[in-house]
Amino acid sequence: MSEDVRDTPQLVFRLHDGAPELVREVLLERGWEEFNSQEHQEGDWNLYWRPSAFRSSDYKRLLPWQRLNHHPKTVGITRKDCLARNLRRMRGTFGSTLYDFSPTVFILPNDYTRFLAEYTKHHLCGAASGGGEGGRATGYWICKPVDLSRGRGIYIFEDVKDLVYNSSVIVQRYVSDPLLISGYKFDLRLYVCVKSFQPLTVYMHQEGLVRFATEKYSLSSLDNLFSHLTNTSINKFGPSYTTDKERVGQGCKWTMSKFRCFLHSQGVDQQLLWLRINSIVTLTLLTVAPSIPPSRNCVELLGFDILIDAALKPWLLEVNFSPALSSDCQADITVKKGLVHDMIDLMSYQSGDSLRQRGYFRQKHKRPCYLGSQLQPAPGLPLSKSVCRHQSKKRSHSQSSLQALLTEQRRKFPPSSQLNQTCSSLRWVSSTAGSNPTLPPHSHPITAVTGNRRTRPTPSSLVTGNRATARVSEVTDVSGDTDALTPDSLRRRVTPQHHHTVGFSSSSSSSQACKLPAIPPRRQLSVRSPWANQRQEWSMAPHPPCRVGDFILTFPFNRATLRASRDGLDVRTAVQEVSKLAAQLTSQY
Ligand code: ADP
Repeated sequence: MSEDVRDTPQLVFRLHDGAPELVREVLLERGWEEFNSQEHQEGDWNLYWRPSAFRSSDYKRLLPWQRLNHHPKTVGITRKDCLARNLRRMRGTFGSTLYDFSPTVFILPNDYTRFLAEYTKHHLCGAASGGGEGGRATGYWICKPVDLSRGRGIYIFEDVKDLVYNSSVIVQRYVSDPLLISGYKFDLRLYVCVKSFQPLTVYMHQEGLVRFATEKYSLSSLDNLFSHLTNTSINKFGPSYTTDKERVGQGCKWTMSKFRCFLHSQGVDQQLLWLRINSIVTLTLLTVAPSIPPSRNCVELLGFDILIDAALKPWLLEVNFSPALSSDCQADITVKKGLVHDMIDLMSYQSGDSLRQRGYFRQKHKRPCYLGSQLQPAPGLPLSKSVCRHQSKKRSHSQSSLQALLTEQRRKFPPSSQLNQTCSSLRWVSSTAGSNPTLPPHSHPITAVTGNRRTRPTPSSLVTGNRATARVSEVTDVSGDTDALTPDSLRRRVTPQHHHTVGFSSSSSSSQACKLPAIPPRRQLSVRSPWANQRQEWSMAPHPPCRVGDFILTFPFNRATLRASRDGLDVRTAVQEVSKLAAQLTSQY
């Protein structure tokens, strides 16, 4: 362990009742200390993690070195009826061609008459043609209580006579032709971290989960939940859960990398699929982003549930608030631990946060971050001149601490003149990674942040050899289609489990298939690309790191969206850019 790590006061986390045990495990592993009301003062914590929403007073009291694991007011997409309403509004504004990724939905009881009209239309249409979209019957619906999760209270029906509800529900067109693997239905659980809503900064985790139904799909048994629902909470009680199911295996989950490799083995070109999924995430977040108060000290982990149909079209089923971080199986362990580590890295704690938390800056930092955050230096960002001036009035003890902090921050945020130097060292990392047959160069990130995990050294420290083990996030810049890989992500990618389960060769093309494609895709960066000329500018402009651990930046994704996300979100431009990207890629297929 380096001196740096030993000497830095610990960061302190506070877990609310019901917070995932995994969060405690990860933070303790990283050398954090758990908040204890006997030993710590009320505000002596750096991270407060709650499974449920915070009160508005929690945001108001938030101090610069503290983070919360929720942004305020995200219910607009995480409650089924609110999501339906917001997507309907966006469809009205931007057209149904772009916002066509959510199955037709009605909020009952209010929309009952409209539902009946749609139901009748489909029914008549189906009866006349003997089938509907894709030659399949279209008359299936799924009814879900608006405020329940984990499959509770859900049922599928064909005949309106079977629609029964005694609370607020949504009735959604049932995607009756899902893509199947050996006859089993599945959906994708994607982990999306919104680092900030203003400016909108979104990361998607490279890993995720594929959740299978445990009985073969059949429209002749609509009441068999083990065949139609993919919730683990339901399927783990199914009779076939432990059976070794054809291709799917035991249990009901795959990792996302295994799924990507499966698609690759089937000859599926995934570029378009992942681009569409990215667009769904961005377009969904754009529905609420302008209404969320700025609070830079918050991050939000969201679970996006996506169903892919037989034509490879992804559909958004729902967005989960506080997605489950419990571990039922090996896939959970593989995915979720790395996810939480990467999420902590994304919070960009600095060594100064623990110093401040210990009270050095406490007196002057009475001002909370909520709503006033634009005027505060965001934690994890270099201190502004005014703060430096403000801090310089402190007593000499504080001055030396501040000096240390500033030196530390300068080290992590090098002036642009130093970036080229950093780039070349990282290119070296990338080319080294690329020479390993199991670790092909990744095509996406321009900037990468490597973690502050106590037990996991950073690649830059390994390569350059002149940096102490980092306890705080390090920002590095890479220009070109190369990628700085962290030893953690490398380790995760080369775990024997991945290779055994997937069973593919170690050729770089098949390994590449297990990763998220670049956004914008490599092809988009060709000479014909509208961003080709801006690429240098984008890479050198101040922008969020393109990669943090296995989190990949998905918004902003080019210069126009970077600009649109600043100084008040320009939703129209952002939507137009997503639309442009989708149109360009679609035209290539
Ligand atoms: P919950 O919050 O209870 O998990 P979801 O909306 O995620 O509710 O639905 C649970 C499961 O039902 C999904 O994982 C999926 O397998 C299935 N499902 C939900 N909506 C649809 C739909 N419109 N078409 C097909 N399957 C669906």
